[in-house]
Amino acid sequence: MNNSVTGPLASRGSRDSAVNPLRVAQISAEQYNLLAVKTDRLFALLFVFEWIAGIIFAIWLSPLSWTGSSSEAHLHVTAAVFLGGLIAGLPIALILQSPGSSFNRIVIAVAQMLFSILLIHLTGGRIETHFHIFVSLAFLSAYRDWRPIVVATAITVLDHFIRGAFWPTSIYGVLGAGPWRAIEHGGWVLFEDAIVLFMIRVSVGEIDSISRTQAQLEQRTADLTRVQLELEQLNGSLEQKVEARARELKASQETIARQQQDLMSAGKLVALGEMAGGIAHEINNPLSIIALRVERLESALLHEELDRGDFAKGLSTITRTVDRIAKIVSGLKFFAREGSRSAPQVVSLSSLLEETLGFCRERFRNHGVELRVVEDEAYRQLDVECQTVELSQVLLNLLNNAFDAVAHVDLKWIGIQVRDNAEFVEVEITDSGIGVPLELREKIMEPFFTTKGVGKGTGLGLSISKGIVERHAGRLTLREHSPNTCFVVRLPRRQPQPGRETAA
Ligand code: ADP
Repeated sequence: MNNSVTGPLASRGSRDSAVNPLRVAQISAEQYNLLAVKTDRLFALLFVFEWIAGIIFAIWLSPLSWTGSSSEAHLHVTAAVFLGGLIAGLPIALILQSPGSSFNRIVIAVAQMLFSILLIHLTGGRIETHFHIFVSLAFLSAYRDWRPIVVATAITVLDHFIRGAFWPTSIYGVLGAGPWRAIEHGGWVLFEDAIVLFMIRVSVGEIDSISRTQAQLEQRTADLTRVQLELEQLNGSLEQKVEARARELKASQETIARQQQDLMSAGKLVALGEMAGGIAHEINNPLSIIALRVERLESALLHEELDRGDFAKGLSTITRTVDRIAKIVSGLKFFAREGSRSAPQVVSLSSLLEETLGFCRERFRNHGVELRVVEDEAYRQLDVECQTVELSQVLLNLLNNAFDAVAHVDLKWIGIQVRDNAEFVEVEITDSGIGVPLELREKIMEPFFTTKGVGKGTGLGLSISKGIVERHAGRLTLREHSPNTCFVVRLPRRQPQPGRETAA
């Protein structure tokens, strides 16, 4: 029989499948006991039948056998009733008290042989009645036990020798019988014994094998149940683990989202910090213009040289300049506000660029950086749907990077060009700077990657800008094979629906 258990727990299954010899012994003991109980019951019935048969023989056959043709009540009738009753009574009582006990079958063997003796005697030693012995031995073999066979054989052989010697008529139906008669009868009995014992051995082997098979089956069923249980447990713990991992994943996603938000705020602060110097210039310049104009007007007033035309011109310059300052301040407030939560809006690209450039134009001029804005039709006419503050932050980051890149070259310029690309708009920011070395191109968009000195670069500008542009369903790339460093912001003209939801 194949005991192997296949599947993931196969090694464990095959190890567990070794048959327990104790269980095999237990099963075969149960089998023998069942057999013994059944055979005991069979013999109980047989004894009743034999008792009645003995009485019938005693009434009907015995007188004819023992006293010729006359048939009348005979002493044998009493013997059949009482002796037969006694022989049958004891084993029946034992069977009723403890069916299947191994002592029963010894008593049964003795009683059965006594019935043979009684019946042979009652029939006057008729040779046909001798068959009772052979049938009894066959019946006794039903126990699959050699002991009742040996006991029955011993009694019958002993009986043949004793009765053959002292009362031959009772056993052979003749007056004289030599010892050879007993030997011959005994020989036939032993011959049957040999066959019966051989059959018992074969049968015992079969019972043992059946018991082993049953034990193996039980073992296998137990193994399979255990494997199934283990699998169920495994499955349960796997589900728990998956759930735990899903929870951890959700928590880390939330943390990442929070950190991203923090990074964006940090990036915004960085950009603000970087442009602070520029803004100082942006405001200082108009302030000195105003101061100059006011000084001139004061002096003209003092020297009573004030011309109405000059006065009006001076006032208008002051008003214009104040307007400029107000614009810068309002742009700054707009930029610093938490704008990421506002809904995307359609804005003109040129005004967005102008507003952003307002934060750095003066600084560029002061450092001799030429601003080359291609103010073509695309620049003037294109509009785009975006979160204006965020996009302004992207452009400012790119402009600041370009400014840093041109710091140490002689020819300093930064170019801006807007391109119309059917569904997309592209804003190119080019500079005459040192460029990005080939080996760094992969890394520059990674957070915290910077080649700038301590306190100067944070390495956040490009990664945050990339995140913002991608949230707008666009792409931020460094143009390959360009003679100058050129970053391209590519955006869809209108935000796709999910993008709008994400951004809102
Ligand atoms: P940071 O400017 O703080 O270093 P960024 O993420 O904005 O952080 O930029 C990362 C790096 O990319 C910069 O340190 C620089 O080496 C490189 N880089 C960005 N823009 C340019 C540019 N226009 N020219 C050359 N290198 C650039």
